[in-house]
Amino acid sequence: MELQRPRGTQDILPKDSAKWQVVEAAAHRVAQSFGYAEVRTPTFEHVEVFRRGVGDATDIVEKEMYEFKDHGDRDLVLRPESTAAVARALLQASAFAEPPVRLYYMQSHFRYERPQAGRLRQHTQFGVEVYGAGGPLADAEVIALAQSFLAELGLRNLSVRLNSIGDAQCRPAYRAALVAHLEGHREELCADCQRRIERSPLRVLDCKKEGCRRVVAEAPQPIDHLCEDCLRHLEGVEAALFALGISYARDGSIVRGLDYYTRTVFEIQYAKLGAQSTVCGGGRYDGLVEALGGAPQPGVGFGLGLERLLLTLEEESLLPADRSAVDVFVAAIGEELGNEALRIAQLLRGHGLRVEQDILARSLKAQLRRAQKVGVAKVVILGPQEFARGVATVRDMVSSAQEEVPIDQLAARITAPVRE
Ligand SMILES: [Zn+2]
Ligand SMILES: [Zn+2]
Repeated sequence: MELQRPRGTQDILPKDSAKWQVVEAAAHRVAQSFGYAEVRTPTFEHVEVFRRGVGDATDIVEKEMYEFKDHGDRDLVLRPESTAAVARALLQASAFAEPPVRLYYMQSHFRYERPQAGRLRQHTQFGVEVYGAGGPLADAEVIALAQSFLAELGLRNLSVRLNSIGDAQCRPAYRAALVAHLEGHREELCADCQRRIERSPLRVLDCKKEGCRRVVAEAPQPIDHLCEDCLRHLEGVEAALFALGISYARDGSIVRGLDYYTRTVFEIQYAKLGAQSTVCGGGRYDGLVEALGGAPQPGVGFGLGLERLLLTLEEESLLPADRSAVDVFVAAIGEELGNEALRIAQLLRGHGLRVEQDILARSLKAQLRRAQKVGVAKVVILGPQEFARGVATVRDMVSSAQEEVPIDQLAARITAPVRE
């Protein structure tokens, strides 16, 4: 049997890794332009981080984690998401002392779920986290950051869908109203949701099952039960988005069914022919750090799946066409000049050029074919007679024009093309 990659994973080969690099570069650039610094957490964590930080009763923790014991009998798990892991890292580093803390991450998550397009068992998320800022400006800032990132990649028809799910002050009354409604429709709910009514009724709002969605559509909405403070917070987020010129709409169907989520939840949707697709989701989680055992810390952020985003960019032809990976090819006539070609290539690299030289001792014809194939702009041809005179031939691959250039002037005469 041939060796194959595990189901739900992918290999990213050079043709595609160039596209990933475009998206990753945009993420670093935009996040840093907002003053966010990168954080990287371990690929595996103690399972407790996610039991407490994501919630025991969630699908992620109940069904989707890659859990294992190491040789020291520790219960470990491949990171299924990053928000709880980042909060754990900040707690451990006592990094909450000087708010606000602004971070971004770009790392893999591992979840055992049914693979589908843009949804893999190992997937990559770009996300941001802001801690220590409880006001609406922080919410608006992370939404603006996500919006800027997507716009930077060329996505235009974006809409921000906004909702509020209340806080500790108004949640109990809402929760009671929701439980009463769900009790009245118990038979129509899936088995999971029937169990959730007592334990975590808000999670029913998230259920994707048809019957549950029908019951939820008729259920009381969090937004109609907001206290004065939560309402003012929501209006503050809206005013900030308005000031930034970001269009948004309230959307009661956007929820996060976890108790530590508070107030703002949002999605950024992209309108393509006939359909809306969610490219980014986020919200406020003022209860998370406390759930992990720290002092309460307001937090807000978003997560954005890069596999799905790449599919969207591909569909919209927004990814750059394949570009040459190399600017200059150094060809040597005769094996004796191989070392000289290496030296010249190295010299040109020192001047910011991307350079390849022959390492197969091929004929000049074969070397030029290779240069053509990799799409270089210039070829430096090193022949024995020219070398004896201290010159090399530089051929322009577009115009086919050739000229002799003193070897010690090559770097000055061949300038790097402008690259993005
Ligand atoms: Zn359900
Ligand atoms: Zn409230």
